[in-house]
Amino acid sequence: MSHSVDAWAAPTAKAPLAPHNISRREPGEDDVRIEILFCGVCHSDIHQVRGEWGDAAFPMVPGHEILGRVTNVGSRVTKLKTGDIAGVGCFVDSCGTCDPCKRGREQFCIPGAAFTYNSTEMDRKTQTYGGYSKEIVVKERYTLKVPAGLDLAAAAPLLCAGITTYSPLREWKCAAGTRVGVVGLGGLGHMAVKIANAMGAEVTMLSQSRSKEADARRLGAHAFELTSEKGAFKKLAGRFDLLIDTISVPHDLDAHLDLLRTEGAMVVVGVPPTPYTLKAMSVIFGNKKLAGSMIGGIAETQEMLDFCAAKKIAADVEVIPIAKINEAYERMLKSDVRYRFVIDLARE
Ligand code: NAP
Ligand code: ZN
Repeated sequence: MSHSVDAWAAPTAKAPLAPHNISRREPGEDDVRIEILFCGVCHSDIHQVRGEWGDAAFPMVPGHEILGRVTNVGSRVTKLKTGDIAGVGCFVDSCGTCDPCKRGREQFCIPGAAFTYNSTEMDRKTQTYGGYSKEIVVKERYTLKVPAGLDLAAAAPLLCAGITTYSPLREWKCAAGTRVGVVGLGGLGHMAVKIANAMGAEVTMLSQSRSKEADARRLGAHAFELTSEKGAFKKLAGRFDLLIDTISVPHDLDAHLDLLRTEGAMVVVGVPPTPYTLKAMSVIFGNKKLAGSMIGGIAETQEMLDFCAAKKIAADVEVIPIAKINEAYERMLKSDVRYRFVIDLARE
């Protein structure tokens, strides 16, 4: 049994998004049905609707920063009830029994998680559709409880931009006094600045956009460095314990690794479509660590939401109706985002 839901989809790679009807299942006993109120716009949505990451399934309904109101729950659901505000992030199911699933790293489920869109359910047949739609049906285990007190539009981006930056900051032990450099001030970057600041770090914003300096400081950066300026990299050599790299296009990893102190770590979270090059000496000299990080598991995402609520942190958002989505993509590609577009699904 299924029903039709209004959505917006890219019909083919690189085509503009347009209205489209999708089908959602009726909630089963473990499911919750969520009326989507807000959905954040992640740069991963752009990479995927443009087919930049390889195989992609069309028509594609993007969106994995989903926040909404529970309208129906199955008989075995205990965590959520009708009327609650719930979140859905980048995946909607996993096997639940493999080693990563048992360790709360469902995103690395060995048979393969069901990602929120551009993926299939665990039956490997039913295409998944994301949050640029009015409603979603998700197993309770893969939903998040959104704590009271957060502005709903501003909380939606926590489901991807929030957890993607919180997780490596925790993993690499960001704490009082850690010298953190955040590279790229977009959706992920601005959450990294806020969260690292709340963890007590000494935060430097590394941006190619001079116009973002005042914002960076307001968001919680203690210093701002313009990477497009001549001599910037030389001046900052050896400065940081930890770099969180959020840039969405290819760039010079060697130059960034030079900014780490001995044994410092750089965590790449941005996913440019083309490969990087790396000089071995950039990591060998100084025993430096070059790492990656992908979103976070359900328990860690809940921990991040509770942390953000306690610290009163959410995204700085520009709320748009879905009809402005193609324009929002064009602006993001020009680094013109302050600092996350969020779709209000109720607005025409
Ligand atoms: P975004 O809002 O578009 O921000 C990206 C930022 O990168 C820009 O605002 C800009 O900051 C910088 N940038 C853009 N073009 C640049 C260029 N030509 N040279 C130097 N810097 C440039 O994107 P986002 O949503 O934060 O996502 C960032 C990346 O993370 C994407 O590749 C996305 O797919 C990826 N991502 C990864 C994960 C994960 O789990 N690892 C999760 C979500 C997203 P400045 O103007 O300050 O330089
Ligand atoms: Zn994302």
